[in-house]
Amino acid sequence: MKSTKNKTKKDKNPSPKPQLDFSNTEIAFSYKSDRELKKAGWLFSLMNKTWLVNPLSDLGMLAMKMRLPFTQKIVKETMFDQFVGGRTLLECTPSIEKLYEYEILTFLDYGAEGKESEKDFNKTMNENIRAIEYATANTSTPIVVTKISGLARFELLESIQEKRDDLPSDIVQEYKNVIKRLDSICNAASENGVAVMIDAEESWIQDIIDHLADVMMKRYNKERVVVYNTFQMYRHDRLQFLVNSFNKAQEEGYLLGAKLVRGAYMEKENRRAEEMGYPTPIQKSKQATDDAYNMALRFCIDNYEQIGSCAATHNAESCKIQADIIHEKGIDRNHPHLNFCQLYGMSDNLTFNLAAAGYNAAKYVVYGQVNEVFPYLVRRAKENTAVSGDMSREYGLIKKEMERRGI
Ligand SMILES: Cc1cc2nc3c(=O)[nH]c(=O)nc-3n(C[C@H](O)[C@H](O)[C@H](O)COP(=O)(O)OP(=O)(O)OC[C@H]3O[C@@H](n4cnc5c(N)ncnc54)[C@H](O)[C@@H]3O)c2cc1C
Repeated sequence: MKSTKNKTKKDKNPSPKPQLDFSNTEIAFSYKSDRELKKAGWLFSLMNKTWLVNPLSDLGMLAMKMRLPFTQKIVKETMFDQFVGGRTLLECTPSIEKLYEYEILTFLDYGAEGKESEKDFNKTMNENIRAIEYATANTSTPIVVTKISGLARFELLESIQEKRDDLPSDIVQEYKNVIKRLDSICNAASENGVAVMIDAEESWIQDIIDHLADVMMKRYNKERVVVYNTFQMYRHDRLQFLVNSFNKAQEEGYLLGAKLVRGAYMEKENRRAEEMGYPTPIQKSKQATDDAYNMALRFCIDNYEQIGSCAATHNAESCKIQADIIHEKGIDRNHPHLNFCQLYGMSDNLTFNLAAAGYNAAKYVVYGQVNEVFPYLVRRAKENTAVSGDMSREYGLIKKEMERRGI
């Protein structure tokens, strides 16, 4: 059996402390030509304008639904090229190879969203398995990402979480199909030395996702970390849940896979809790989320032999903290259980500087047809709009590099 261990870079001496300067835009954008950098600068300057992004996103959604070809072309040449690897795995290859030249790994993420039928869910499963086959043949891609809501109806997951017992037989059968799909993906990964990351989603379906992730980890994580669950530290119960998940893994004899994120559905979570009259699962403040996140990083590194972890974040301080703890403990910077990951097209200052300093740095590379990944692009555009008139973080970094190059 192939091991993901083979896919990491050659061992480097853990000391001396590496230079890690996230403001180094020369390293961050070394892979972009002047022309590419200017194009990115133009795009981020547009996204910086909140008054433009919101109406354009709504219009774009409508145009995508109507399948207007010129909209697809415009989106493809702008937002898509910045944030998406390609329409197919083959189209992603040049970007993946370019990242790998800088020792950056790719986590492949088929980005089709909002699917509803069994046919679509089987298509997503087959697409994930195709990505695993691709990953098997390419050392640059050790991990494939999957989303349970891409393999199952959202309402199905919601109804099972609400009412676990006495489910009607058609629901039980539908749920069994979901387990089979996920198992086929994890089994293919296990057989081929690849790993699978299961994304975290809304809290009202997350119990089922956690349950499925635990079942798969118990089945496949005996010798190496094949399956990772995701822990959202913006939830006040998740640090304890991480500890519980670790204890369960220890008791039942498997390795824990833990991708750590802050969480992407904060407004939605707060709104639903208020509307339905239950206490919000979200932390009291950003600081509380940050503290929980950084404690979770430490917990995973403290137990790094039994936990394969990934700091999936654009927060520079958290990346710095993870790097400092690794150094403090004298662990190899490229130990396969210690990973960093950012989204393709964002936070290159973190990914490229981490990789240059010898850490396991990766990009989540989303791929899919333009209309399929459009909701993902809208989220990226909204994330990069200016907060109260300031320049967005990304735009500031690109401008700095353009000034440095004198372009
Ligand atoms: C590679 C990768 C994979 C990801 N996978 C997932 C996933 O599977 N599931 C998922 O949900 N998200 C996922 N995300 C998104 C992630 O959860 C965050 O939304 C995003 O990365 C921004 O957080 P940050 O850690 O980068 O840092 P920052 O930009 O410092 O933090 C912003 C985050 O802090 C939290 N926050 C902000 N204000 C408050 C407040 N007032 N109170 C409490 N908390 C607050 C929110 O989570 C917000 O998104 C992923 C991100 C990356 C980079």
